Amino acid sequence: MSLLDRHRAVMPTWMPVYYGDDALEIVSGSGRRVTDATGRTYLDFFGGVLTTMIGYDIAEISDAVRRQIGTGVAHTSTLYLIRQQVELAEKIARLSGIPDARVFFTNSGTEANETALLMATNVRRSNQILAIKNSYHGRSFGTMAITGHRTWSSSSLSPFTVNWLASADRLRGRMARLTDADVIDAAVDDLREVLATVTAGDVAALIAEPIQGVGGFVHGPDGLLGAYQKVLAENGILLIADEVQTGWGRTGDHFWGYEAHGVTPDLVTFAKGIGNGFALGGVVGRAPVMNAVPAISFSTFGGNPVSAAAGNAVLDYVLDHDLQGNARTVGAILLRGLRELSYDILAAVRGRGLMIGLEFVRPGTTEPDPAVTARVFDLCREGGLLVGKGGLHGNVLRLGPALTLTVEEAREGLAILAGAIAAADAELRIT
Ligand code: PMP
Repeated sequence: MSLLDRHRAVMPTWMPVYYGDDALEIVSGSGRRVTDATGRTYLDFFGGVLTTMIGYDIAEISDAVRRQIGTGVAHTSTLYLIRQQVELAEKIARLSGIPDARVFFTNSGTEANETALLMATNVRRSNQILAIKNSYHGRSFGTMAITGHRTWSSSSLSPFTVNWLASADRLRGRMARLTDADVIDAAVDDLREVLATVTAGDVAALIAEPIQGVGGFVHGPDGLLGAYQKVLAENGILLIADEVQTGWGRTGDHFWGYEAHGVTPDLVTFAKGIGNGFALGGVVGRAPVMNAVPAISFSTFGGNPVSAAAGNAVLDYVLDHDLQGNARTVGAILLRGLRELSYDILAAVRGRGLMIGLEFVRPGTTEPDPAVTARVFDLCREGGLLVGKGGLHGNVLRLGPALTLTVEEAREGLAILAGAIAAADAELRIT
């Protein structure tokens, strides 16, 4: 039996696996490239899901982890002091810009958001949450409830009362084709209207991704979260920024996605890239909110010495090598190259830094075309490039390579993408 058949026989049917019958088994990696079980090497523009932030087999990261494992203690529990964890917390607290910030580590983004919700609802004594349509915040009972993306909402039984705000989608819906200023006005009107009509008494928090990751890299104009926060502050409502995809310099211009909005959130959640593959997530936030849990709360593995060693090595690498600057310059080359492509099927190229989305539609319309998207996705792989898929309608390709991506690699990936889009477009004309 092939590994795929064995996977299908033993895993639940709802686990997504890319490339269907041609599922990929990655067995090794180096830099921005991975090699599969057949020996074929690919340039990786997705890094899992923006997870391999520094790249594969990076000595500084691997050595830090090996040193920790070399002590003979991978982990016992977080009931003991963990030097690596405290050091990482101090760095993240400082980088957050939040005065007297506190940090709690988890094993995933889902758990980080659960923790933020726990604290926000406790401090506000309210189970009402505002979330944005087309968002993704995790796969647990609580975080699914605040995920505004039907593909990923596998339970409707929510512990929260959730009210939804419009996402800043410029192609369709109420924000379609609005100017930046009009998007902000419309979003603030939407928030005020929701608060005035469908919420009952106090709302605990608004949670938002500065750029919607799973939702296909949809994002509002700079300043949008700041405009929201003015209204939230009038009502004592907390702002939670979900930086699971946008943190650590990914967006190029800023270290955190929220910085583009002129806000300091009350709580910031993170995961994915910070471990460069090791399971690490967490929350950083204002002390009065972070401390507002009425009982003790504990995670056996959250911020364990191995993951924390990876986290420290990743953060140091990002800062020492100015990966934020690299994301800005290499991302700009990619964005420029992609924006030069002119096809009726390519309705939008958007994003920031090394977080770029390409949205595909039926020619001459804004109707999503998941089939042509899937074709470009497969052609990219045939050409030796791994990219991601996403968007509410499955019609967005997502690029989120390691922040160490070089200009040459960006050009190489661009050429494969351009060829794949041209071929998919040509096939459409023939059939
Ligand atoms: N928030 C965002 C913005 C995410 O993209 C994800 C993962 N796709 C999560 C939370 C959940 O993270 P995890 O899969 O580590 O639980």
